[in-house]
Amino acid sequence: AKRHGRGQYRVFTEEIKLRQEHGLLLGKQMNAALRDNRFRLYFQPQIDLATGGIWGVEALVRWIQPDGSALPPSIFIPYAEESGLIVPLGRRVLEQACMTGSSWLQAGREELVISVNVSNKELAAGDYLENLKAILAETGYPPRLLQLEVTESSNMVQREQQLRQFRELADMGIQLAMDDFGTGYSTFSVIQSLPFQVFKIDKSMTDGIDGDSKARSIVQAMIVMAHSLNQQVVAEGVETAGQAEVLRSLGCDAVQGYYFSRPLPLDMLLDWMDSREKG
Ligand code: C2E
Ligand code: CA
Ligand code: CA
Ligand code: CA
Repeated sequence: AKRHGRGQYRVFTEEIKLRQEHGLLLGKQMNAALRDNRFRLYFQPQIDLATGGIWGVEALVRWIQPDGSALPPSIFIPYAEESGLIVPLGRRVLEQACMTGSSWLQAGREELVISVNVSNKELAAGDYLENLKAILAETGYPPRLLQLEVTESSNMVQREQQLRQFRELADMGIQLAMDDFGTGYSTFSVIQSLPFQVFKIDKSMTDGIDGDSKARSIVQAMIVMAHSLNQQVVAEGVETAGQAEVLRSLGCDAVQGYYFSRPLPLDMLLDWMDSREKG
């Protein structure tokens, strides 16, 4: 190992330098994109398994490039979280979601819950609630039609602060969903103490559900537990009819995934919903 020591060190520092330069560039580009409004929401419909109707939509952010292509969040959310840019980005996301929802209501569309992803870094920023209230007031969007998807934090100090925030959000009538359920640190005591209405089963759990009987048993247990706590379950990443059928038979409340629809830009979502109502 010693023989390689120096060389490795040099490679390592070079990598850090590259990452820093890459970060600076990405930061500059993200700031410009924020200024020029190039972050746009796509919406993935969620299907109510009991009625076959639309349960709600999840808003997923995309970075629209000059050629019209849409960069997925995996390219920029990690850096946004690291650099703090997630705070202004999250505001844009929330604003766009509430503005879109308000315009649907004004157009006389049926009420629909819009689900927005919130990172722990945003919640920890301090003025999250204040800002959220301002956006709700500005857009006139009813809090009961807003759902926030959060992943559980592993940090105990953050956890205390989160608990207070979650209670206040719930008191405002906002719905809370625990995202990526089955992958994180969620413990039974945390689940018991947090005011969540919805659990979202992660794609990694959905994947095995129509083949692997173990995966099916685990998902079944999650659904039974959630229901006994009066909470609902949405499974994500459903790609086949078989998976949807198993989830329905297990009593899962709603599903989303490529089998039904990919996340769509707003105009395409509206077309999708209209054609579904007719057909
Ligand atoms: P997530 O919250 O777990 O969102 C689900 C991801 O799975 C989305 O990826 C969605 O497009 C994708 N997906 C949905 N159905 C299927 C399927 O059937 N098959 C496959 N292979 N994938 C499916 P996306 O849009 O790339 O988002 C990735 C992650 O980025 C999200 O994971 C979320 O954690 C984060 N993210 C997205 N938008 C926002 C945002 O506005 N704010 C924050 N803080 N995070 C966001
Ligand atoms: Ca999510
Ligand atoms: Ca997530
Ligand atoms: Ca997930």
